[in-house]
Amino acid sequence: MSGETIDLGNYLEGVAAPSSEGLNTCTHCGLCLNACPTYRVLGREMDSPRGRVFMMRQVREEQMPLSELIADHLYICLDCRACETACPSGVPYGELVEAGRAQVEAAGVTPRRWRLLRWLLNRVILPRPWLTRAVFAFPRLYAGSPLRALAGLLPRRLRAWEAALPRPRAPIPVRREPRPGGAPESGTAPLVMALTGCMMEAMLPHLNRATESVLRKAGYRLVPPHGGCCGALNVHAGERQAAKDMARATIDAFERSGAEYFVSNSAGCGAQLKEYAHLFEQDDPWRERAERFASRVLDLSQALATRGVAATRVLDVPVTYQDACHLAHAQRIRAEPRSLLKGCSDDFRELGDDQCCGSAGIYNLTHPEIANELLRQKLERIEATGARLVVTGNPGCLLHLRRGAAERGMNVDVRHIAEVMDATL
Ligand code: SF4
Ligand code: SF4
Repeated sequence: MSGETIDLGNYLEGVAAPSSEGLNTCTHCGLCLNACPTYRVLGREMDSPRGRVFMMRQVREEQMPLSELIADHLYICLDCRACETACPSGVPYGELVEAGRAQVEAAGVTPRRWRLLRWLLNRVILPRPWLTRAVFAFPRLYAGSPLRALAGLLPRRLRAWEAALPRPRAPIPVRREPRPGGAPESGTAPLVMALTGCMMEAMLPHLNRATESVLRKAGYRLVPPHGGCCGALNVHAGERQAAKDMARATIDAFERSGAEYFVSNSAGCGAQLKEYAHLFEQDDPWRERAERFASRVLDLSQALATRGVAATRVLDVPVTYQDACHLAHAQRIRAEPRSLLKGCSDDFRELGDDQCCGSAGIYNLTHPEIANELLRQKLERIEATGARLVVTGNPGCLLHLRRGAAERGMNVDVRHIAEVMDATL
């Protein structure tokens, strides 16, 4: 790691730094340490929430120069926000680390080995829906091509990546006898706009169709979906300018649609949509619009649970639920997906573990060792439940768990909650 440093005066100007108020909330009690996956794996203070808050405060107070070394520790963080759940003092860790990374980006001290990947993905591909579709269409085209017959020749590790690629999968096993259920007829059906997003629509479009289908089954009326990127990956990478542009486009599309609610089927996107206001300064008129918009955002599980839908079919295999970090920790949504799954299963098994699976956006590409260790721990927990179906509410977790399960030769299927509800409603 290089010791490259920069002059504070240059980079603080025009870039919102982690707030003193947020940083000073930390009392150094250490109650977050055991909840932090990177601290548990690496055992280093500087890779704990407390250590990172300390570093950000030192930089803010000009006691320490912003260097590639500090950037490294900020990027080793998964931004999973388990520390926020554990912290008794309410330290807004996600907001702080994202602002810290924005400073890193503005200062140009992003660790060199990720610069190209980040630039390509966050600045070139994701802001352009046509390019995102073109790039991520390759895995889908491959999945339908005769080349798949050669997959067996690949080394074991590559075979696991191959197995995780989107492709037609077996129907979700449900019992034959339907039971009474469905959506309540009462009340006026709200008009909703769904987010189809960037990578989701390009790589896993069937999940967006399943989402639209279950929303209709739950009685919602749908306006045409919003197809742009929400900017979540940009915020996590500290690229706030690009994220602001995407936030404005999303808010504008929602306001013009006349819809009452905006529904997301991706935990990471949903958390970002609900926190758009963090991107804008207090005196920016977009801040108020972002706050109004956030109050209308629902995760798919919230949208379905609110309507009181009841499954008409029962799953035929033991099922467990993997808490996506940005649902459990960032949005504090745990009850709704469980209640939906218990409604369509007679054999729901608690995983008893809400630690990050290691997917975390592009983290599994930038930090594969830590991501794979967290994946190993998660799969062990899943194996211990004996579940044959794992359900999650985030596409990144879905693909990451699928790859790990294939690599381990596990007899388990990993599915998005939209597919499961579509098969059972
Ligand atoms: S972040 Fe919260 S839990 Fe962690 S040391 Fe600071 S006050 Fe304690
Ligand atoms: S966000 Fe996750 S990885 Fe980062 S400090 Fe908090 S608990 Fe640790």
